[in-house]
Amino acid sequence: MHIEILTLFPDMFPSPFECSIIRRARERGYVHIGIRDIRRYAEGPHRVSDDYPYGGGGGMIMKPEPIVRAVEAAKQEISGGWVILLTPQGDILNQERAWEMSRRASLILICGRYEGVDERVRMVVDQEISIGDYILTGGELAAMVVVDAVVRLIPGVLGKDTSKTGESFYRGLLEHPQYTRPRIFRDAPVPEVILSGDHARIAQWRRRASLERTLRRRPDLLKSAQLNDEDRRILRELGTEYSQ
Ligand code: SAM
Repeated sequence: MHIEILTLFPDMFPSPFECSIIRRARERGYVHIGIRDIRRYAEGPHRVSDDYPYGGGGGMIMKPEPIVRAVEAAKQEISGGWVILLTPQGDILNQERAWEMSRRASLILICGRYEGVDERVRMVVDQEISIGDYILTGGELAAMVVVDAVVRLIPGVLGKDTSKTGESFYRGLLEHPQYTRPRIFRDAPVPEVILSGDHARIAQWRRRASLERTLRRRPDLLKSAQLNDEDRRILRELGTEYSQ
C-alpha cells in the first residue's frame, strides 16, 4: 500500500512512523508512506497557502489551488489514490472504516490547518474522516491516527492474524480482559480458568467476558455486533433485556 500525506507541516511526521510496527511494515515493504509539503504547490515567491475568509470572520482558510495541485501530482505519481480529507465534519473513524481503507491500494490524506480548507477542495475528495468529536489544531495528528489504525490491518503486518481477530471491535465487541505473569499481583490472582490449559473452556470464558464487558461499557455496540444464539442466551443471563 502507498499512503501519501499532504501537509503544511511535514516536520511533524517522521518519528511516529519510525517506531515499532509501522517502521517494520515500511522496512518490509508492506507500506510506503510519503510526506508531501502542500507549500511546494503554492504560487509566488512566498508560496502563500492560506488567505482571509470571504465574508469576514476570524482565522485563515487554506487556499484550494495548492491542495488540489498536490492531490493531482500525488495521483499521477502513485497512480490512483483514495483521497481522504481529515476534518471534524467527516465520518467518525472506526474499526470498520479502518478495515475498508486497509484494502485500498493507495490513500492520499489531506491535513487541514487554521480554520480549515476552502470548500472547493472537496471537489477532489472521496471521503471525509474525523477522529472524534473535538477540534485539533491541524489534521496531522488525525492522519497519524489513520495511518496507525490502517497499517496494522494490512495482511502480513502483524505477526499472527489472531492478534487482529480477537481484539476490541472485531465483530463488534470489546476484547475480554487479558493477563500475563505474575499469577498473583497485589493479591489479585489471574482467573483460574485461563491457567487451566483447557482451550475450549478458555474460549468460552473469553467470549462471555467480552460480552459482559461490552454490555457494561458499550451497550451501543451490541446493536450491530455479530451474535449467535449462545451469545444472546449469555446476554439474557447477564441480566439484560437485550434481544436482536
Ligand atoms: N473550522 C473547522 C471546523 O469547525 O470544522 C475546524 C478547523 S481545525 C482548527 C483545523 C484542521 O484540523 C481541520 O481542517 C482538520 O484537518 C483538522 N482537524 C481538527 N479536528 C479534527 C478531527 N476531529 N478529526 C480530523 N481532523 C481534524
